[in-house]
Amino acid sequence: MSDCLTLKKSNCKNCYKCIRHCPVKSIRFSGNQAHIIGNECILCGQCFVVCPQNAKEISSETEKVKVLISSGEKVIVSLAPSFIANYENAGIRGMRAALKKLGFYEAEETAIGATIVKTEYEKYLAEKTRDIVISSCCHSVNLLIQKYFPKELTYLADVLSPMQAHAKDIKRRNPGAKVVFIGPCVAKKDEAAYYEGIVDAVLTYEDLAKWMKEANVEIVSDMDDTAESRARFFPTTGGILKTMAQDSDYTYLAIDGVDNCIAALRDIETGKIHKTFIEMSACAGSCIGGPVME
Ligand code: SF4
Ligand code: SF4
Repeated sequence: MSDCLTLKKSNCKNCYKCIRHCPVKSIRFSGNQAHIIGNECILCGQCFVVCPQNAKEISSETEKVKVLISSGEKVIVSLAPSFIANYENAGIRGMRAALKKLGFYEAEETAIGATIVKTEYEKYLAEKTRDIVISSCCHSVNLLIQKYFPKELTYLADVLSPMQAHAKDIKRRNPGAKVVFIGPCVAKKDEAAYYEGIVDAVLTYEDLAKWMKEANVEIVSDMDDTAESRARFFPTTGGILKTMAQDSDYTYLAIDGVDNCIAALRDIETGKIHKTFIEMSACAGSCIGGPVME
């Protein structure tokens, strides 16, 4: 796993709060410091959210992105749908204008990738060969299954995440371009590092806010309603389900929060769930409840 979430040792005051909130107990104390155990962590970001000392640190790729831009690369943003919740009254036009002032070539909504992906899920279920299908959009859920429920990997859909689908689509339309995903998620940093060459860097809303402040760039409010607006439901719980055409052979479930996902995976393990499509999100409320909303 990449080092996208680490402990700022000097800040840890040994309060145990992160350990209490970690859903998979992947934090251990040594030398009075709460260290994250990388190969057990699922990057849900809860420890980052609850730490009163800001001792959990998310790595920043802002400098890397600045270098890409200044070296003359065509750098295009894939902007997570939750921007709508993070930036009040901001539409894609206002966001695009602000991002262009920072030097980005273009900015598009990851909702385009969500639209591609939901069609893939529809095709996947139309084959009617699978008993249980778990959506693979949330990288923390994917890590949870890989690390704690490996027998259930067989149910994880072989479908790209909206971020990766969108990045591939951008690169197909803009040969040679670099793609930067901007959103509320720490796990996306690990996903981008793992699937090399698709997404070139990931910034959080916090990274973006710092950069904009430093560059004195403000977002001008504008609301819009584009063709992909239904896909904007994607970051809320059941968002994929809301945009998908549903097949009567399957039951459709939306489950959010790591504890609820674990309970559902246990139910699958014990044979209590069949003929079901499950949209799982590690964050309560799905990506709109992401750990790095501003
Ligand atoms: S919540 Fe923060 S201060 Fe408390 S133990 Fe964890 S890292 Fe240390
Ligand atoms: S990111 Fe989540 S899984 Fe990883 S250590 Fe923090 S709380 Fe635990």
